[in-house]
Amino acid sequence: MTDEESTKQHNQGAFEPPHAVKTVRELIFWEYAHLIAKAAGFEGNYRFIMSRFQRLRQGKMKMSGLVRDDRMMLSCERCCIYCGSAENLSLDHIIPLSKGGPDIISNQVYACRSCNSSKGDKDIFYWFGLERKEEIPPMVLSKYLKLVFDFHEAQGTLDKTDINMDGKLDVMDLSVFHQ
Ligand SMILES: [Zn+2]
Repeated sequence: MTDEESTKQHNQGAFEPPHAVKTVRELIFWEYAHLIAKAAGFEGNYRFIMSRFQRLRQGKMKMSGLVRDDRMMLSCERCCIYCGSAENLSLDHIIPLSKGGPDIISNQVYACRSCNSSKGDKDIFYWFGLERKEEIPPMVLSKYLKLVFDFHEAQGTLDKTDINMDGKLDVMDLSVFHQ
């Protein structure tokens, strides 16, 4: 490996899950454990995140109900989930209908016209990009993780280790479609 490659790998380290995370199922739990930590004021606390990850993985804790999406949705009904604007709101499908996203409330958030058209029919991680991954609103990410869990469960791909075949497992593998 050249120095340049080594530096590049080091810089990408922040986006890569730990060794304990080997499958799509585990990655979804790992990302969800981050959300729980954020909601509990333990953002960036590795031990806390790891303990929640283990509980999710062992089935001692469930994803649903932990982050109260629907209540948050009600409290934010009059603003765009992405930018906070109260203008030109409409319901946006987190996983676009055109890409097989379900037409149910758990796949919807309020978004302004500008954010809606910027997102278009992109996957949420592709739209934000890995660099801005931490800026994805927690409610969107919470809903997204449950949606992709259900999708991969139905597809039988929860135990896959590299769906997009780019040689590593990261959030880009979670997408129900690949751009
Ligand atoms: Zn907006």
